[in-house]
Amino acid sequence: MTNNNVKEIEDLIKIISKLPGLGPKSARRIVLKLINNREELVKPLTNTLAQVYKNVVRCKNCGNLKSIKSDCICMTKKYDQICVVENIADMWVIENTGIYKGHYHILGGTLPSFESKNISNGLLIESLVSRVKKNSIKEVIIATSVSIEGETTSHYISDSLKETKVKITRLAKGVPVGGEIEFLDDGTLYSAFKNRASIAND
Ligand SMILES: [Zn+2]
Repeated sequence: MTNNNVKEIEDLIKIISKLPGLGPKSARRIVLKLINNREELVKPLTNTLAQVYKNVVRCKNCGNLKSIKSDCICMTKKYDQICVVENIADMWVIENTGIYKGHYHILGGTLPSFESKNISNGLLIESLVSRVKKNSIKEVIIATSVSIEGETTSHYISDSLKETKVKITRLAKGVPVGGEIEFLDDGTLYSAFKNRASIAND
């Protein structure tokens, strides 16, 4: 054995290699960088992570991340459009295209593809309906992925919103089947958004 096998280091490598895009090799490089920069990296990282753990929560109303120290944007700003996405990564890619400046609703996943009654899978669908009712929402843009689950979810949402009479649109069909929003290129996403089609109450 030529190595001390420091448990703390091995544990850290294990955790870091669970991060997206990182394998054991890059995890080792990161850990080495951290250890060589204890004051500049390890210390502030420790504090920041503790703050994130303590203060960052998901808003129960819109699904966005918020700090427990302040009200969520969905409560403090007026808006008349809501874009419904599966997860936060999807919201970030849409934001990056710059085509949409309105508010989001983050479902937290999709419904299973099989027919199921009243299984909302812990998704924030009821709160979407109440957001539409409470605010004067003119359009709900459904931006779930073009997969069976994404379509099932889209149908379920438009059914749930039926009585509100709000206009509902869906991203254009230019999105490839199986296309997860997160992995679309900006151009495809931009035109899918621009050419979105009405599916209810036009
Ligand atoms: Zn919110």
